[in-house]
Amino acid sequence: MAKVLYNKDINNEVLRDKKIAIVGYGSQGHAHAMNLRDSGFDVIIGLRPGKSQQKAEADGFEVYSVAEATAQADVVMVLLPDELQPQVYQESIKDNLQEGNALAFAHGFNIHFTQIVPPSNVDVFLSAPKGPGHLVRRTFEEGAGVPSLYGVKQDYTGSAADVALAYCYGIGAARAGVLETSFQEETETDLFGEQAVLCGGATALVKAGFETLTDAGYQPEIAYFECLHELKLIVDLLYEGGLENMRYSISDTAQWGDFVSGPRIVDDGTKERMKDILSEIQTGKFAKDWISENQTGRPQFNAINRRENQHQIEVVGRELRALMPFVNKPINDESEKGET
Ligand code: NDP
Ligand code: MG
Ligand code: MG
Repeated sequence: MAKVLYNKDINNEVLRDKKIAIVGYGSQGHAHAMNLRDSGFDVIIGLRPGKSQQKAEADGFEVYSVAEATAQADVVMVLLPDELQPQVYQESIKDNLQEGNALAFAHGFNIHFTQIVPPSNVDVFLSAPKGPGHLVRRTFEEGAGVPSLYGVKQDYTGSAADVALAYCYGIGAARAGVLETSFQEETETDLFGEQAVLCGGATALVKAGFETLTDAGYQPEIAYFECLHELKLIVDLLYEGGLENMRYSISDTAQWGDFVSGPRIVDDGTKERMKDILSEIQTGKFAKDWISENQTGRPQFNAINRRENQHQIEVVGRELRALMPFVNKPINDESEKGET
């Protein structure tokens, strides 16, 4: 079993005399910055002029350019979109790091796939909450936290792990539990989870179920409720108490159907394809393709995104959610945006 650390296991003094720059003030950035400040740490923000800058200032932070914030700070946490990090690092961070500083990330992609190669005289660590930023903030305000992973890539000072753990303490993660990992493990499992299960697997399953029902002539509204809307209730039960808890709550008919039909949907063939996906992540093929997709202006990403937004399940879903104000949350609020 992995070793789980909590507040009582962590000496947060190592971070008390340090200045922390949070670069980016989006989903993760605003949550890390506010939680660290509420935990009594010295936090400044690094941003370009714009919406996030105004928000960070309104929240009472000192906001500087990325270059200036990096120059002032001892610990620089990079919370920019992953695909923009290499360029901002080259232009504004690299030359402003000082010997013995720490460079930190909430996802290992750019370090693991060597899109960012830090100088050897700094610490490099990971503090990766396993939840979206708004949850990192909300649970902190409620006195709890979102569990996080931490890992050290480079330990120049000899105290990189202590600083990483103190950082996890500061964002409230150690109230819920902190697990050690490596940049490699965090990156590969995060990419696999979102592709095979959480995002790719789930949306493909939902759409296939919806299409099967509507192709057979059932009403799209009914298919939407069965295949998408109700998924939340099931996932909540899984989250609270695992498979057993979910199966305890559903009817015996549903549980029997689960046992006999589930393995016909996700079978050995599915698992073989999951292994292919995992191996493309491990060899770096997925990363290489995604980086080149970004470098060419995202032609496929944008085309697929447009097509997906026009799928019948989206059209009927928008209509139905408009009738259910309790579920109709804004999707454009950056701070509410979830990612894995
Ligand atoms: P967001 O897209 O929510 O926020 C990005 C922030 O970066 C915004 O404040 C944006 O400001 C700023 N920004 C963008 N470009 C620049 C630039 N050129 N110079 C300065 N600031 C810039 O990112 P996330 O919080 O989703 O992701 C941050 C990191 O956290 C990523 O590594 C991600 O993998 C990781 N992560 C994210 C999770 C999540 O729940 N979202 C979960 C766990 C990890 P502006 O308003 O100016 O555009
Ligand atoms: Mg039912
Ligand atoms: Mg991810």
